[in-house]
Formats: sequence, C-alpha cells, structure tokens
Amino acid sequence: MAEIRLDNIRKTFGKIVATRDVSLTVHDTEFMVLLGPSGCGKTTLLRGIAGLEQIDSGRVFIGDKDVTDLPSRKRRIAMVFQSYAVFPHLTVYENIAFGLRMQRLPDSEVKKRVHSSAELLQITDLLDRFPAKVSGGQRQRVAVARAIAVQAEVLLMDEPLSNLDALLRLEMRAELKRLLKDVKSTVVYVTHDQVEALSLGDRIAVMKDGEILQCDTPLQVYDNPASEFIGGFIGNPPMNFLEVQLSDNAVMAGGASFTPPPAVRAALGNGARVALGIRAENIVAESVRTDGALSGAVLVVEPLGSHNLLTVQVGGERVKVNAHADSRFEPGQRIWLKFAPEKIRWMNRDTGRAIS
Ligand code: ATP
Repeated sequence: MAEIRLDNIRKTFGKIVATRDVSLTVHDTEFMVLLGPSGCGKTTLLRGIAGLEQIDSGRVFIGDKDVTDLPSRKRRIAMVFQSYAVFPHLTVYENIAFGLRMQRLPDSEVKKRVHSSAELLQITDLLDRFPAKVSGGQRQRVAVARAIAVQAEVLLMDEPLSNLDALLRLEMRAELKRLLKDVKSTVVYVTHDQVEALSLGDRIAVMKDGEILQCDTPLQVYDNPASEFIGGFIGNPPMNFLEVQLSDNAVMAGGASFTPPPAVRAALGNGARVALGIRAENIVAESVRTDGALSGAVLVVEPLGSHNLLTVQVGGERVKVNAHADSRFEPGQRIWLKFAPEKIRWMNRDTGRAIS
C-alpha cells in the first residue's frame, strides 16, 4: 500500500511562498499529475515528497508512515528530476542497473529489468556507452529507465520527457502510461504540458501561486474547470469566455439568448457579471442563420488537418471555433454560431470561479 498523503505542506524561500499549506492525497497506484505554469510550486511540492526539500510546516505520509523527518533515501521512492543526474563513470547499462544492484537482486533479474526498461525507452543500443557519449535527450531517457527499473512503490517524476523531440515524447508518453499501470506504482508527475497531463493522469492537480486550485480527473478538469484560469490553461485552444449580461433571467450574447440554470440565477441575481465558458469543439459554425445562433465575423481560418480552427469576432470578443475539415469559411465572412447548451460553463466574472 503506497498512498501518499500531504497535510498542509508549506515551503517558503525568504518572502516567496512556494507552497501554501497544500493538502493532497494520492491513492495507492494512482497516477497524479501536478500541472501549472512556471513558478507555481510544482517542483517544490515534489521535492517535499521526495525529502529533497525541508518543508517549513506540514506532514508527509507515504503508506501509513509519517516520513516528514526521514531523509530521502529512507522514503523508499524512485525519482527522476529535471536535473537528471546520471553517473558519468558508469555505462548506461550500469546506470540503469544501479538501484537494482543496491537491492541485491540476482544478476539474471538485473539483466532482465535493465533490458526491458532500456527497450521501453528505446536506448538498448546505447547500453555499453558512457553518458558523456550520448545526447541530452538520451541521457534523460537513461534517468527515466533507471527510475522505472526499480519498480518502486512510489515514483516521483519532474518533467521527465522535457528534453525529447515531439514525436519521441508522444511515443514515450504512451509507453510510460502502459508500463506504470503494469508495475502498479503510485506516481506523482510534474509537468507544465497540459496535453501530457490530460493523457497521463488518473487525476490532475492544477496549481497556481503555491496552491492547488482543482484536483480532478482529466475529463472533469477539461469539461468542468473550477475557474476561468483553469479553463484557459487546459485545452488547446483555451476555453472561450464571453462576458454576458443577466437580464430577465436570460443572458444575451452576440444577439442570442441562453437560459442560465437556476444555480446561476440564484447565485448572482439580475445584473451581475457573468461569463459563459464554452470550448471550441462545442460550437457549431453555420454559414446561414439559425434560431438561437450568435452572429459573428470570421477573422482567421487555420486548417489543422483534422479540423479548421476559426477565430471569430463576436461583438467585442474573439471566439475560437472548431469547424469541419471540409468547411469552406473565409476571413470576412459572416457566420452563425450555435453553442451546445449542456456544454456551457457559467463563471462569476468578478471571482473568476465557476458557479455550480
Ligand atoms: P517550473 O515549471 O518553472 O519548474 P515550478 O512550478 O516547479 O516551476 P518551483 O520550482 O516549485 O515552481 O518554484 C516555486 C517558487 O519558489 C518560484 O517562485 C521559485 O522562484 C521559488 N523557488 C524555488 N526554488 C527556490 C530556491 N531554491 N530559492 C529561492 N526560491 C526558489
């Protein structure tokens, strides 16, 4: 059992509060992603779990053990950090074997694990080389292979794929996901890449300014962002937010009206500032007027292969819309947009938070 429990973790660097009393439970065998913009405290939190950073206050539990005062080496974790130090005097093979030899595993098991990890990271042909003779991206893969070979109950990873080119990154992501499910490690994985977070995480903890703003499944975080910040940070393009006015219990935007759910009306009353959030793929663009559609003007058409991404001017705001790959919209054209009502998220403009 390797549940990780963080209880009010606070870490400051002088006046900077890197993590603000963060609490989080990562379930046994769960893949938890810490996601957020640069400087939000992801690495500090991970280093706190690893025991590489002494926290100011709070407790860290791994399994049912309070490890807060234990040194890193006694926490029984494997880790890959951004500064993926590999041992320069050991071959790639011996680097990957290092943790296994520490565990005094028999040679046959060491060999098996080194080869399967190397295969997964596509570095089998480098096993006899020394780290100085491989590229930065390959060295990073050695560090990942070394960490996963141990099959530790807890695996902590900080941007482990950051130095790989886009295609390799995509491949490694899927392989890593498969392997870590097989091994049944509890994983905490830091990234600022939202696609990586969505694809890998069982849950994603979205961080900003040293706090966790939302911790939920990828689908929930994507579909039901708790705030405008999260809706804008996750998803490409970001979620659209259109400021609308509540009047007569209906909301007018770009010439169309939407009926807000009772919770929105109850929470805000008439006249309050509300934003309506909708994702590009939940808008249908039409070249002819239909009932309840918003009128807008096409500004930009970006053909992306699988679909065309439109930037549309609606009143004073710009809206991103996914149109069919075969659609033939032109810049300057007047079009009509229809929002899928069940996909609309209502936000309080003043707090930036979702109204549930
Ligand atoms: P990135 O994605 O850029 O690595 P991050 O989300 O991992 O960012 P942290 O590295 O945890 O963020 O940093 C959180 C805050 O703490 C930042 O403001 C950073 O400047 C500060 N910080 C981190 N480490 C130190 C340090 N050793 N000394 C002083 N300030 C630090």
